[in-house]
Amino acid sequence: MEKIAIIGGGIAGASIARVLSKYENLEIHLIEREPDVSWGVTKANTGIIHPGHEEDPEKHSLRADFCVEGNELWHRWTEELDIPVEWPGELMIARREGELKTLEKYLELGKENGVPGLRIIDEEELRTLEPNVNSEAQSALYGPTAGRMEPWEAVIGLVENSVENGLITHLNTEVRDIGIKQEEIRGVQTGRGFIEADIIVNAAGLYADEVSKMAGIDHFDLQPRKGEYYLFDEDARPRVKRILHPVPTSKTKGVYATKTVGGNLMLGPTAEDLPMEAKGDNSTTEEGLNFVWKEAKNLVEELPKKEKVSKTFAGLRPEPPEGRYVIEAHEDPWGFVSVGGIRSPGLTAAPAIANYVVEELIEGELGVKLAENKDWNPKRKGIKRFSEVTMEERRKLIAQDPNYGNVVCMCKEVTRAEILEAIERAKKVGVSKPTLDSVKFRTLAMFGFCQGSFCRLKTAKILSEELDIPIWKVTIRGEGTKYGMGDVKILRSKKREKDEQSNEKK
Ligand SMILES: Cc1cc2nc3c(=O)[nH]c(=O)nc-3n(C[C@H](O)[C@H](O)[C@H](O)COP(=O)(O)OP(=O)(O)OC[C@H]3O[C@@H](n4cnc5c(N)ncnc54)[C@H](O)[C@@H]3O)c2cc1C
Repeated sequence: MEKIAIIGGGIAGASIARVLSKYENLEIHLIEREPDVSWGVTKANTGIIHPGHEEDPEKHSLRADFCVEGNELWHRWTEELDIPVEWPGELMIARREGELKTLEKYLELGKENGVPGLRIIDEEELRTLEPNVNSEAQSALYGPTAGRMEPWEAVIGLVENSVENGLITHLNTEVRDIGIKQEEIRGVQTGRGFIEADIIVNAAGLYADEVSKMAGIDHFDLQPRKGEYYLFDEDARPRVKRILHPVPTSKTKGVYATKTVGGNLMLGPTAEDLPMEAKGDNSTTEEGLNFVWKEAKNLVEELPKKEKVSKTFAGLRPEPPEGRYVIEAHEDPWGFVSVGGIRSPGLTAAPAIANYVVEELIEGELGVKLAENKDWNPKRKGIKRFSEVTMEERRKLIAQDPNYGNVVCMCKEVTRAEILEAIERAKKVGVSKPTLDSVKFRTLAMFGFCQGSFCRLKTAKILSEELDIPIWKVTIRGEGTKYGMGDVKILRSKKREKDEQSNEKK
């Protein structure tokens, strides 16, 4: 039995875990320092499954190959894993004469990369496909295979399915050192003890360079590149039907105007290089957001009023040297596999990266014999969303379980039954104490118009009952993020005052 430890529960690590879980002669461990999965780079991005025509195979051959293959694989994986997805297609908008030439360049790249269905469309067809397009738009490159999903839904689906097929998770567990003996991998030293492993896959996102250095591999550094966004309320209008973006620059694909699968208009991101030491800086800035607004106005004719913005947020890309993915198996130490610098289109590319890592690097270069598990189950079912079913089905659900009759989050119509199921599912994948964010990312509660001001307390109460802890010990996202600490102090002192008064009366 070969032991494989994957470091990082983002889209890369989770996809690799799923592919490895197909083999019966492996013991697979997924190690993640956060209390839950998908809270790294994968949490905050545009969520687009790109077609693959923006990747130049001469400069970035891995990115080009993996993007096209990943897009194709996501069509199957989202179905097998019941991940909510839409395939509205992508429009690269040209507004000026020079930009028309650029569309042709990307059409050629797309042909080289084997992107299906890609074509340049004229103004008339463009306005039919996207009525809210900017009035100066002259034509567009239409990539019909582009899709969108919530990236964390993908990771949760992948990890649930992998656990079902034998994956062992270690959440809230930070990797601090790599165990090496006689130039071979022996395991990982974590904040919770040593985990034995013959092979380590380093998929630590923004921190993959630091983890590689623990194994003596220091040929790459990852620069944080920030992307800022606007997210609008569900009822903000006008929206866009498809995924709109300008002709890319050498640095970035540009600011997008798209929708989340839940229907919220989203604008962004920027692409600002930060100093190396700013890997934790996901703040938004006035300058960045103003830039997003200005760029978005070049794409669409009309934007909703700014009052309709429900939140702004930022994500950080792990930018590798010259934009090249660092995906390689090492001889020294033998058994160490780097999956670093997975910048955009990493979400799209992840299933193809996973196949490559398992088939070409682990089986091919490291020579690990893989024996298929005939009983491997490719299917997983997501949590049934009360908001998405018919009235008839709602009645049936409430009759089966009255918790469906108790709507906790009014904005997204999330019921107590879904929250209870989310808590159970989080525990099943190894979240020892599910948090408010564990529930939020599994159900969309607290994601709506009020951003949780109405339902956070109710959700915290359910968590406190289910985990059998006082409500002030419920956390937003783990240690150091206690929910309601300030309020609790006031409540406690008021309670003490009351107790003291009643004692005096006695
Ligand atoms: C602004 C922005 C927009 C993007 N848009 C798109 C898009 O539309 N489409 C697309 O295809 N791609 C997009 N991407 C790229 C995509 O988000 C990334 O390529 C992908 O999420 C990277 O995943 P990952 O698994 O490598 O990293 P992560 O998601 O960061 O996962 C790594 C995990 O490792 C953990 N970790 C780190 N260090 C340790 C340690 N020492 N011990 C244990 N665990 C550790 C982290 O906590 C983290 O959870 C975008 C990225 C950004 C930032």
